[in-house]
Amino acid sequence: MEDYILRATAANGSIRAFAAISSNTVEKARQIHNTSPVASAALGRMLTAAAIMGIMLKSEKDRLTLQITGDGPLKGILVTSDRFANVKGYAVNPYTELPLRPDGKLDVGGAVGNGSLRVIKDIGLKEPYSGSIELISGEIADDITYYYAASEQIPSSVGLGVLVDTDLSIKHAGGFIIQLMPGADDELVEKLEKKLLTIPYITDMLDSGYNAEKILQAILGDMGLEILDRVPVAYKCDCSRARVEQALISLGKKELSQIIDEDKKAELTCHFCNKVYNFDESELKKLLVEACSR
Ligand SMILES: [Zn+2]
Repeated sequence: MEDYILRATAANGSIRAFAAISSNTVEKARQIHNTSPVASAALGRMLTAAAIMGIMLKSEKDRLTLQITGDGPLKGILVTSDRFANVKGYAVNPYTELPLRPDGKLDVGGAVGNGSLRVIKDIGLKEPYSGSIELISGEIADDITYYYAASEQIPSSVGLGVLVDTDLSIKHAGGFIIQLMPGADDELVEKLEKKLLTIPYITDMLDSGYNAEKILQAILGDMGLEILDRVPVAYKCDCSRARVEQALISLGKKELSQIIDEDKKAELTCHFCNKVYNFDESELKKLLVEACSR
């Protein structure tokens, strides 16, 4: 089944809701980065959140980046997304291994550790919008919930889940974000809060074969749920030789000359898809000419 996000509303527009199935996307990330189970779970939760937050962007050129920096063995995670839910990302230490938690779940919070979550939205302004919070638990869903409350003043409920199979492949991945719009009445808030306490864990829903429709039904089925849109999700890297050339040129005259003198070549690997770009001396010299003409 293809990965997708459903965009929905409920309670006459007082609630906006998104649910995602992202199993193939997270599996692709696992194959690219050869992530350990706990790293798959952490990166997968981040990719799923970024896909959903991406489709909230307004313009086609807008870009969203989620970056966690932590003192746990994973060291950090960076993911990006766009309005079409094209996502990509990596964990700094994808081979992190940690014992399971006492409840048998992967210890994502332990792998992430203490640190911060930064959300960067490049929406075509001179300076990108950027909001940052201290991590609450490192479990990622709680941290994004807190980010929305603290940085954007949007009361939200976030659920993110990744189930890793015995052969280490991704069995299921998905999640939801439910948000209250300004002016939601107290009765509705109370009803939603109660409902969120009674629904199964997202991982249990995914493991029972829930699709995005069924996840939204479980939460908002009795609150006037209305599905608006269905957006495909994919892991896609948009790196290219031209972009890598620009990155080399932007290093500047001094640094480029140094690379040419000392190494006579350059090999750059894309963090997101592991594609390798090679430049020989004559190519680097051409880039140096461009750097000098800037
Ligand atoms: Zn790439």
